[in-house]
Amino acid sequence: MSSQATAATQEEARKQLEEKILADHDRLGPDDRFQFACHPGVACFNHCCSDVNIFLSPYDVLRMRKNLGMGSTEFLEKHTLLPIQKDMRTPVVVLRMGDDESRNCPFVTEAGCGIYHDRPWPCRMYPLGMAAQKDTPDGWRGERFYFLMKEDGCLGCDQARQWTVRDWLADQGVEEYDVWGEAFKELALHEFFENGGTLSPEKMEMFYAACYDLDRFRRFVFNTTLLEKFDVDEDLVEEMRYSDEALLRFGFLWLRFSLFGENTMKVRPDAAEAARESLEKRTLQNRKRTAATGGVR
Ligand code: SF4
Ligand code: SF4
Repeated sequence: MSSQATAATQEEARKQLEEKILADHDRLGPDDRFQFACHPGVACFNHCCSDVNIFLSPYDVLRMRKNLGMGSTEFLEKHTLLPIQKDMRTPVVVLRMGDDESRNCPFVTEAGCGIYHDRPWPCRMYPLGMAAQKDTPDGWRGERFYFLMKEDGCLGCDQARQWTVRDWLADQGVEEYDVWGEAFKELALHEFFENGGTLSPEKMEMFYAACYDLDRFRRFVFNTTLLEKFDVDEDLVEEMRYSDEALLRFGFLWLRFSLFGENTMKVRPDAAEAARESLEKRTLQNRKRTAATGGVR
């Protein structure tokens, strides 16, 4: 199947999912209300923290591993899976459940989530789901809406506590995650993919490192000639040495430049000159070689 056909199939699947969500769930706006409470007094407490697929964004991984005091490579190896699918555009990272029969999340404790302050976005949002209609002039940044997802066996929606969508999102600290999520979507849903573009295995690796494996990406930034070639603000360079947030911000810019050719990085004039000279030298050498062989290759 061509990459264009794959993109069309994915687009069709996305539309079908959106239609299903709209058909099965009421659409909620920021001021719409719903009932929900989750606490140790609810009979199903902790039941939803096992055998569940939780997709992790780069910012989810950053927050979770910092909570645990783990390096990115160690966290990714120990706590995540990278399911490979044939038509995958970018790496997909999923939280690894326990290997035992109950398949508990490794962070669940009797008192609830053991990394509550840094739990991932899907765990914050529940029982709300979010979708954005893509077929608007703004593309994926078009109208965003919410819907109530009631999982089987979840008794939280029977509790009397009332929320507006707006209050729930504020209470769960979703806003910060959304800012990072939007920046990530600009990469993962880039029009390069819509137009049938695909990433080579090397570029997939770069995407994975710059988004998720920040320890490895930091080595790439500081142990190669990258900072000699590009004009990067000195304060940002210093910040990136210790701040993962700064490094992730830079990683998103780097990927937009290196994968999609966007103007998000500035080449240093001396590096541009050196690249031009090197290109001229190579072109000259090729011409000489061609002349020496009489044009026969
Ligand atoms: S199933 Fe619902 S109420 Fe029960 S612990 Fe999970 S979110 Fe809370
Ligand atoms: S991260 Fe926390 S809230 Fe999310 S599934 Fe694991 S224990 Fe539950």
